[in-house]
Amino acid sequence: MAKPDLLQICPFAEPVEKALAEDFTLHRYFEAEDKPALLEKLAPTTRFVATGGHHGATREMIAALPKLEIISSFGVGYDAVDVAAAKEHGVSVTNTPDVLNDCVAETTLALMLALCHRVPQADAYVRAGRWESEGTFGLTDELTGTRVGILGLGRIGKTIAKLCQAFNMEVVYHGRSRQEHQPYPHHPDLEAMARDVDWLVAIAPGTEETKGIVSRKVMEALGPKGKLVNMGRGSLVDEAALIELLETDALGGAALDVFANEPHVPERLRKLQNVVLLPHQGSATHKTRAAMGMMVVKNLKAHLRGEPLLSPVV
Ligand code: NAP
Repeated sequence: MAKPDLLQICPFAEPVEKALAEDFTLHRYFEAEDKPALLEKLAPTTRFVATGGHHGATREMIAALPKLEIISSFGVGYDAVDVAAAKEHGVSVTNTPDVLNDCVAETTLALMLALCHRVPQADAYVRAGRWESEGTFGLTDELTGTRVGILGLGRIGKTIAKLCQAFNMEVVYHGRSRQEHQPYPHHPDLEAMARDVDWLVAIAPGTEETKGIVSRKVMEALGPKGKLVNMGRGSLVDEAALIELLETDALGGAALDVFANEPHVPERLRKLQNVVLLPHQGSATHKTRAAMGMMVVKNLKAHLRGEPLLSPVV
């Protein structure tokens, strides 16, 4: 019997593609020269889509595949998938939560340590021979004993909180609701929390509601000694205000894994010394990306076999 058609929106690692090919006939959308023609060809048969967090699936694509039943998306953030359109068309959407919590939390702490100990600058100092010619690098801040406010105490936020506790940091959080069973104080007001902490770590999803939630006012409240870490989505932060506040030292520093218009990072941001910048590396380790890939496969195979989905979001 012919394997069912699967529209593959973006490339996956070899083991993932191999596992998909065991049960599906893969159609590589990202390689198709005439994409509308491929969609038209697949429209009468295609029930399965595999995509990535950045590539998502548009309303037009969903509408063009009337037999579509499931979109399996790589990554925990699924803001690039038009979930409203999927719902309207009765299409399930899955993501890859939990398997990346430790990795993203570890990357967050790596950024925080790099920012306060000025690791990239100190490394550059040694490489440029300046230690020898100019003497010691100078003193830095440290993480231990400071207070961190987490915006989004979800699966990853809780893992970050635990790692912060290992540095004797005091943890507080902001979310829409207080979580009864969490030991950390809840701040219903983000700006008030920012005023009260040394670090603000944003790890909430990119939604209409969170757009610009880290506003100029919030960053001003964080202040000249405060440091912002954005691991969530670029859309969470008013990037223009962030740059202005960093340039004028009205905000102490920023460690950023995500940006408003990736992979574009504004030149003004790249020039600053009080920032550490990563190219969206939060979950980018061999181990975690392999686990995420296998979750994409397992959700599709579960649907094929009529079994419950592992991680439905719709
Ligand atoms: P999660 O378990 O769903 O947690 C999300 C948290 O955000 C919840 O605690 C939620 O609390 C809070 N939240 C949602 N809307 C909010 C709002 N309007 N105002 C304040 N808080 C809000 O998700 P997760 O698995 O931890 O992942 C979080 C996000 O991290 C993902 O959606 C993704 O965008 C990002 N991420 C980034 C990377 C990277 O590589 N940088 C990797 C993985 C994930 P309430 O419901 O109480 O508000």
